[in-house]
Amino acid sequence: MPKPPASIPDQARTRRFWNPEIQTLPRAELEALQLKRLQEAAGIAYDRAPFFRRRFDATGIRPDDIVSLDSLRQVPPFSKADLRADEAAHPPVGQYRASGLRGAVRLATSTGTTGRPTYVLFTGHDIGVENELGARNFWRLGYRPGDVVVNAHPGYLNGGQANVGGVMEHLGCLSISIGPPEDDDRIIDTLQRLDGLAIDHWQLMPAAAVRILQAARRRGWTGVLPPIQDATPLLQLDLISAGMECVGFLGSTCRPGLGTGAHVAEDHALIEALDPGTGQPVPDGERGYLVCTSLGRDNPMIRYNLEDVVRIDRSPCDCGETHLRAWWDGRGKDVVRVAGRAILPLDVWRHLSFDAQYVLLRRPHEMDRLEIRLEGTPADDLAARIEAGTGVPVHVTQIPAGSLARSSYKFERVIDLDRGEPA
Ligand SMILES: [Zn+2]
Repeated sequence: MPKPPASIPDQARTRRFWNPEIQTLPRAELEALQLKRLQEAAGIAYDRAPFFRRRFDATGIRPDDIVSLDSLRQVPPFSKADLRADEAAHPPVGQYRASGLRGAVRLATSTGTTGRPTYVLFTGHDIGVENELGARNFWRLGYRPGDVVVNAHPGYLNGGQANVGGVMEHLGCLSISIGPPEDDDRIIDTLQRLDGLAIDHWQLMPAAAVRILQAARRRGWTGVLPPIQDATPLLQLDLISAGMECVGFLGSTCRPGLGTGAHVAEDHALIEALDPGTGQPVPDGERGYLVCTSLGRDNPMIRYNLEDVVRIDRSPCDCGETHLRAWWDGRGKDVVRVAGRAILPLDVWRHLSFDAQYVLLRRPHEMDRLEIRLEGTPADDLAARIEAGTGVPVHVTQIPAGSLARSSYKFERVIDLDRGEPA
């Protein structure tokens, strides 16, 4: 790590946690804080957000009925489809924001990975919460005041660039926003502009890192590049989010690249992992859909089902943080059902290199083997290793380099095929 400027005291870079008091709060105190904030959030949502009031009323629940963390389960979860329907019924932004449009200071949209983007509305206070949680996240990953950070998240109506940039400024980093990589000419032009800036960190999605690296290889670029030579697919497990519209900077790992789980900011979020079929909690360590309730915000979300697949670990972590850990295994829409099991791209990716180009095939019925298309030549034991990890038969089809569509922001790793189409 480079030397910090003399203006930044050592102690501002060397302390263990961004916010030691809250990150190591004893469990009993943390849960008391959660209950107090949950009751406040339920009251705000019921009084000022008709979307939530209708949901409470439909099940006969009042905010006063929330007397324990478990009693939250009486409130039915909602999903992105419910937010879209609310925005359509009450344009333009729906009625799920307590602040309303005029009480907010920043409007953005979600990325629209699973359909039409929804609006994201921040009050000044809620931006402050995201900055605080983002600072904890990136502190764990080694970002320090004085560091130079390139941010390749999208701008314009999408809020990613502003949110990540805001966190970096809050941390005291120098933030350089370049947007997601586009064509090769733009990528090389951007790399030329970045050369000589002594970059410490690249904040970008894996798909963007791979896109930049491939353009640089094609053009013979030898200057500054995102450091993906040593990157592992387990980096996916370093960060966890409940979506910009709920808790964007939900958590990060205390051991980058090792897949040991991300500490979740429990003072600002109550998370559950639910069986998508029964709606009941799955045992800790098993895969379930992430349901998040945001705490301590002007615009609370009460039991938002992200339809993302996560695992939760409540066992103590020896780093000293008291907040639970969770793994983001992937998106529910990317689940491929094979021989009674739910398989996700990460189950394959973890056996490949970081920049491997591959897709999982999905057919309209449950499949009896996992079918994978991979660019280039697979390792001899690849299918056997994936079979050992997933417990299902695996068939890998080799395809020519460059045949899969490239993405500049998020990977598309699943292709839907007809029943009899060849793998
Ligand atoms: Zn830890």
